[in-house]
Amino acid sequence: MKELKNYIAGRWVGTERRFEKRSPFDGTLLATVHEATKEMVDEAVAIGSEVSVGSRSGQWGALPMKQRVAIIHDFADRILARVDDLVEADVADTGRSYWQASTFDGARAARLFRAYADTALTLENRSMQFSGELGFEGMWYTLRRPKGVIACICPWNVPLLMASMKVAPALIMGNAAILKPSEETPSSATILAEVIDASDIPDGAFSLIHGFGHNSAGGYLSENPNVDAITFTGESGTGTAIMKSAANGLREVSLELGGKNAALVFEDAVMDRVAEGMTRSAFFNCGQICFCTERAYVHRTRFDEFVDRMADIANAIVIGDKSHNGFSIGPLVSHSHRDKVKALLDTVPENGGSFVAGGGIPEFEDDRDNGAFIQPSIAVGSPENAPFVKQEAFGPVLHVAPFDEEEEAITLANDTSYGLATCIWTENVNRAHRVAPRIRAGHAWINSWQIRDLLSPLTGAGASGVGEQGGRHSLEFSSLPQTVTMRVFGEHQ
Ligand code: NAD
Repeated sequence: MKELKNYIAGRWVGTERRFEKRSPFDGTLLATVHEATKEMVDEAVAIGSEVSVGSRSGQWGALPMKQRVAIIHDFADRILARVDDLVEADVADTGRSYWQASTFDGARAARLFRAYADTALTLENRSMQFSGELGFEGMWYTLRRPKGVIACICPWNVPLLMASMKVAPALIMGNAAILKPSEETPSSATILAEVIDASDIPDGAFSLIHGFGHNSAGGYLSENPNVDAITFTGESGTGTAIMKSAANGLREVSLELGGKNAALVFEDAVMDRVAEGMTRSAFFNCGQICFCTERAYVHRTRFDEFVDRMADIANAIVIGDKSHNGFSIGPLVSHSHRDKVKALLDTVPENGGSFVAGGGIPEFEDDRDNGAFIQPSIAVGSPENAPFVKQEAFGPVLHVAPFDEEEEAITLANDTSYGLATCIWTENVNRAHRVAPRIRAGHAWINSWQIRDLLSPLTGAGASGVGEQGGRHSLEFSSLPQTVTMRVFGEHQ
């Protein structure tokens, strides 16, 4: 059984306070995790500050970009050398299949570090000559310098990829990154720290702290006024708490939060494509992707066909086979999360809805019955104000309702406090491009779901987030623009 320690400025540090990480697949104990203390978090922040913008910045923050990029490429090679361990860690912590962990995260993390490194080299600065109003001649140019210490606070749903999406831009721009993985998925982050330990990234430029949120590692980190910026992905309520912490010291935040995403299926949609895309968008990763569709509004003329087709698919999905080499679902990440999703499913009949697929907990009659599994579930007949339609489940659930007019479909999709993603299924190109900008969502997919370049911008409206991430937006968030102005004297001045 593993013991997972904190990695603070080049040292592996244990603590008295420990917590258990159990498998959501069968309930077995996977690891004992050392919970970081406030003193440890403060130390990581203080040393991070020195290495990024302080007295030791010559080791990292003040290195020429090309040198940092070379170190990051070498680090990406080292990730690839440990990719099997990283995949194994995420499979164990989340219960997902090897196929999913190796296609969706795995080597993708190394590619992400490389892509950010290469994009950083293309960030050009601006410059101008100018004549000042008082007769001064001069020129200015812009720079991007590190911000300092960036807190990277992650959820559990795609552990390695989420950590990489936050740590990569922070490090490449010369900051110190302090990673706080979810308490549910501490393992791949620990291997990432081992890879960093073996790389040329200097001590202090990266620290890993384990623990929970409030009154634990996450809270200590976000409340520390010497943390210069916080990049967070997780629930909207947690994002609100973090934004309040960040107000102390006026520190910048980048927040990727929850969603209650709607898909619109118009009368001319090609149902084979819809079925393939909607299967992934509702059930991929057991519905634990922020972009997952939890509401489908289907033109009345295609409603029965859609419901029958999706119910057949949901009822046939392979559940709980880690070796399955294709689309399947694992458990939810924990028993407490399953309790939450199950409680939401239980509200469906209470509110007049009914299930056409799932609605409960599958039975295996083996060790998986100790896991946190839930059936892929599709419900019809729920009123639009029902909790099942309003609250984010973050599980494999789909509410389906009919519509008659395009305008009605748009109104239904927008009737949420969230604004993360939407899918529009239609063969009518005018309708697709007419409807997409009418949906309040940071990302609109047309006839697809989650085909996404990780460098493309990611935003969320309303309760779904603050700021733009992805590609150069994350690099800009991870750096401080500075304008340098110089006076140019005339020959006789
Ligand atoms: P969560 O908010 O419970 O936890 C996320 C992280 O924040 C964890 O590491 C946790 O320990 C930490 N944390 C909790 N309270 C804290 C506090 N007060 N201060 C500092 N840190 C704190 O979220 P989760 O359950 O891990 O993830 C699921 C949520 O993430 C869902 O709502 C989902 O929609 C969202 N999500 C959004 C995106 C996106 O891109 N918008 C992507 C993935 C997940």
